[in-house]
Amino acid sequence: MASCVVTGAGGFIGGHLVADLVAQGIDVRAVDAKPIESWYLVAPEAESRALDLTDREACRQAVEGAERVFNLAADMRGIGFIEGNKAQCMLSVLINTHMLMAAHKVGVERFFYASSACVYAAGKQDRPDVDALAEPDAYPAMPEDGYGWEKLFSERMCRHYSEDFGLETRVARYHNVYGPEGTWTGGREKAPAAICRKVATAQLSGDDSIEIWGDGEQTRSFTYIDDCVAGTQLIAASDVDEPLNLGSSEMVTINQLVDLVEHVAGTKLERRYLLDAPQGVRGRSSDNSLILERLGWEPTTSLAQGIEATYRWIYDDIRARGSASSNGGGEDRRQSERAKAARTA
Ligand code: NAD
Repeated sequence: MASCVVTGAGGFIGGHLVADLVAQGIDVRAVDAKPIESWYLVAPEAESRALDLTDREACRQAVEGAERVFNLAADMRGIGFIEGNKAQCMLSVLINTHMLMAAHKVGVERFFYASSACVYAAGKQDRPDVDALAEPDAYPAMPEDGYGWEKLFSERMCRHYSEDFGLETRVARYHNVYGPEGTWTGGREKAPAAICRKVATAQLSGDDSIEIWGDGEQTRSFTYIDDCVAGTQLIAASDVDEPLNLGSSEMVTINQLVDLVEHVAGTKLERRYLLDAPQGVRGRSSDNSLILERLGWEPTTSLAQGIEATYRWIYDDIRARGSASSNGGGEDRRQSERAKAARTA
């Protein structure tokens, strides 16, 4: 019997979370809609199940016997996908609704929900030098259309399941998570992985230029995966029943991110700016006052440290596979395995 369920376990953050939980000796049921052979990471110690959690009965099977739930499953990808597929993003509301219903029904003790910085009002993110986003900035509500509305709605549903039915819920708003063992091509990747891929590909192929979405002056903060996994468990175990930011407060422009990747790669490339490409909000960073006050913790991995590890992993994988052409879902784990083999070779 699993004491803990992680949904979205075949994805980037869920895979790392499962690995961390089983390393602590915790019984884990790992659930994802994808066939198990295409998960990024599969922990042999966990009970892995392929279930489509938009389905109510599948959610019941997922949470059976569980004390804690980490609900990370969502149909999400990079900004290009989010901007062009709003209805599809909003369908994740079925996962969150059915998971809450199932968790309440079987008497789960703690329900963690992975929300996003995309819940924040667009008007508070319209300049590169914006103030960092604090939790109350999500209201009055004007989140990212589609994906952000679904996240904000699901946050509220967690709150009301707690108030009305006594299910203990915890919510983290993740800010741009990156790191090794995540996807770096095919449209699901975020900016750090995409830029690492472009620089590594240019280096390996001898190109001297890369494309950048937008003018490169948009700002973001990026959260290293180890901090995300640690913060997720801290928030889940805490007594803070309101949403908390889980994000780095180290804000950089995309151009500065490219500088950093070039520095790690030991190269300098010409930049071609695609001004019509999707680029999301103009500026975004995480205000960590509340998490510091309530938990005495915030992410500590510097972008330089995180990019070093991420670039090496992506570079190794591209070299191992011989090209950086688009990969589909079934390629995800093979991507991981190639990189591991390259590292140990
Ligand atoms: P991911 O795409 O790598 O993982 C999500 C997983 O959910 C995928 O493996 C997918 O197959 C699974 N899934 C989708 N629909 C499903 C369904 N119907 N039933 C079961 N599983 C289903 O994404 P990630 O980066 O690991 O993100 C995890 C969570 O964190 C998501 O909820 C995401 O919205 C949230 N989040 C991530 C970031 C980030 O920067 N990565 C930022 C903010 C919020």
